[in-house]
Amino acid sequence: MSPRSISILGATGSVGASTLDLIAREPGRWRVIALTANSNAEQLARLAKQFRPEIAVLADESKLTELRDLLAGTGIACAGGEAALIEAASRPADLTLSAIVGCAGLAPTMAAIEQGGTVALANKESLVSAGEVLTRAVAKHGATLLPTDSEHNAIFQCLAGNDMTQVRKITLTASGGPFREWSFEQMQAARPEQALKHPNWSMGDKITIDSATMMNKGLELIEAHHLFPVGLERLAIIIHPQSVVHSMVEYRDGSTLAQLGPADMRVPIASCLAWPQRMDTPCEPLDLARLGSLSFELPDEERFPATRLARQAAEAGGAIPAVLNAANEVAVAAFLGGRIGFTRIADHVEATLSCYAPPAPACLADVLAVDAEARHKARSLTEIASLA
Ligand code: NAD
Ligand code: MG
Repeated sequence: MSPRSISILGATGSVGASTLDLIAREPGRWRVIALTANSNAEQLARLAKQFRPEIAVLADESKLTELRDLLAGTGIACAGGEAALIEAASRPADLTLSAIVGCAGLAPTMAAIEQGGTVALANKESLVSAGEVLTRAVAKHGATLLPTDSEHNAIFQCLAGNDMTQVRKITLTASGGPFREWSFEQMQAARPEQALKHPNWSMGDKITIDSATMMNKGLELIEAHHLFPVGLERLAIIIHPQSVVHSMVEYRDGSTLAQLGPADMRVPIASCLAWPQRMDTPCEPLDLARLGSLSFELPDEERFPATRLARQAAEAGGAIPAVLNAANEVAVAAFLGGRIGFTRIADHVEATLSCYAPPAPACLADVLAVDAEARHKARSLTEIASLA
């Protein structure tokens, strides 16, 4: 069998590491085209030496000299800056793993989609911000989008072989994060290191904070709305603290199909790497007898308003989800930087949404402009707050 070609956008991150771990277990199966990272030249060079891509790209051009020095004599091309990132993402590959964090992943993801190949999408923020624009591009270029986010991958698997018009309800499960049992007052004083302790998943900082605020589930609701267009009223969220059931699809006859598995991203990533086949993973098999019981509860939108804000943004549609996403990225960074309190994250998102409602974007450039302006507005709000 000739090797399949793959590019990994965001290779140095948590999803990138899980993907490369699987690839390393199948020597000869994969040929790596591009590996990209933001600014960590040393880590990217180490991965490039191991996986021998055609090109290694840093978004941060100021680190390019360091990358060149580290990869001198290897024959691996090096590049830096946003245009280089987009060029690398547009190199033909059988599969592109989109795993950059935030709206920064949008333009490279679009570049991969425009090649008409298969894109495994972990970078949910790009679909949240550019929903209609991105899904239109997928259809126009005949690309295939494989959901890598564990819930969406679960839903994708539960829909396989079924007719979407027969779906009564899709339920996204949520662990509830580290503050599931905290009072609002306790959360007001929550420190970044407490919010960064996710009970079940090991992930990058931004998504871990999103899990603590429940904005992650809000973003996932919008993501599901675009990936599985059954109507927002058919999308529900349920808290499931064990993170064993990754999501469910209920059909009109009363059958509910669920996908279960360990809380390890290598499972949904493997499902994308091997799709439509299956592959081995080194993950611990589920041991339901040892787990004993699984529990479920309704979300509390009083303590965790993020899912309400996200649902309202999805209902409004157009540019509003991009504003929500950008404001959230700014607010999460402000919280991690110690400039605002934990419960202020949702407040800042709501405040940004109430002062900025641009018209629907028609193209990628429009989405990026909305994103930039929303960030600007959200930043001034967080700056005012941090001075107060
Ligand atoms: P991470 O922070 O661990 O890694 C992010 C990657 O993006 C790194 O390689 C980083 O160098 C790169 N990056 C960051 N900023 C960039 C920029 N401005 N330009 C170019 N590259 C940049 O994040 P992660 O946890 O791996 O998450 C990646 C994406 O996958 C996110 O959208 C997240 O929501 C989604 N996701 C992650 C998980 C998980 O388990 N970690 C699960 C589901 C979905
Ligand atoms: Mg998820």
